[in-house]
Amino acid sequence: MAQPIAIAIHGGAGNIRPENLPPEKAQKVEAYLRSVVEEAYTLLQQGRMALEVVEIAVRRLEDAGFFNAGAGAVPNARGEVELDAAIMDGHNRRAGAVAAVKKVRNPITLARLVMERTPHVLIVGQGADSLAQAWELPLRNEAAPLPEVPWSYGTVGAVALDKYGNLAAATSTGGITGKMAGRVGDSPLIGAGTYAENGLIALSATGQGEYFIRSVLAYDIAARLRYQGSSPSQAIQEAFRDRLEPLGGQGGIIAVTPTGEVLFHFNTPGMYRASKDARGQLTVGIFR
Ligand code: ASP
Repeated sequence: MAQPIAIAIHGGAGNIRPENLPPEKAQKVEAYLRSVVEEAYTLLQQGRMALEVVEIAVRRLEDAGFFNAGAGAVPNARGEVELDAAIMDGHNRRAGAVAAVKKVRNPITLARLVMERTPHVLIVGQGADSLAQAWELPLRNEAAPLPEVPWSYGTVGAVALDKYGNLAAATSTGGITGKMAGRVGDSPLIGAGTYAENGLIALSATGQGEYFIRSVLAYDIAARLRYQGSSPSQAIQEAFRDRLEPLGGQGGIIAVTPTGEVLFHFNTPGMYRASKDARGQLTVGIFR
């Protein structure tokens, strides 16, 4: 039998309801999510590694301009954009992340290069932006008008399983609208909003980051699988119910398992999402 492959992506969770999302916008986002998933799946079929594929998928979502990441990121309380991103390779648990960067166009690519070219995991602010310049990465168009918060959340993420059994996860965000300058969310924190480990699971979260940090949510899910032998869906549901929700946390998560099963879970009215699993089944959704 062919080795399983799978990809799942999200474009954020939040108060997304049919009454506040006009059908033409919903269709536009769904079509975009579908195209990203189809492209990613084709790359996995061609034998590309999960790590590369999650980076490519997240880069496409950052470039879309209508998610709260990359080109579409919302401003903080000072009217400036500060971006966070992380990527993790489940094969060796190497990880790279950046936080509060202002200049780079694709924070996810900078996060991957932090992993590959430095001895560090997380580099923030000016230090990270100067690496982007030193490595000649494309920079953001800082003169472009900032979005006026068109979608309630809109962080982006991707998780994948490649032919070789490798899992990878990537998450990128502009953070919470109106956040304080310098605030960092869960997305770039390994184990909070992003985590991948071969043989266990790959996860990317979205929602109110402070609660995901305090719950160490992604790693809590992985730990349930490792130490408790829970099934992936049980681990996710229990982590939400027992860790995130008692604090009042809201949001969602996407996961891919070592067998190529895709899982989505959210306690908000909606989550932009799409996937193609090991059976080749395509899913695209926004609302419950
Ligand atoms: N989790 C992100 C953050 O707190 C925001 C989001 O997912 O909407 O930065």
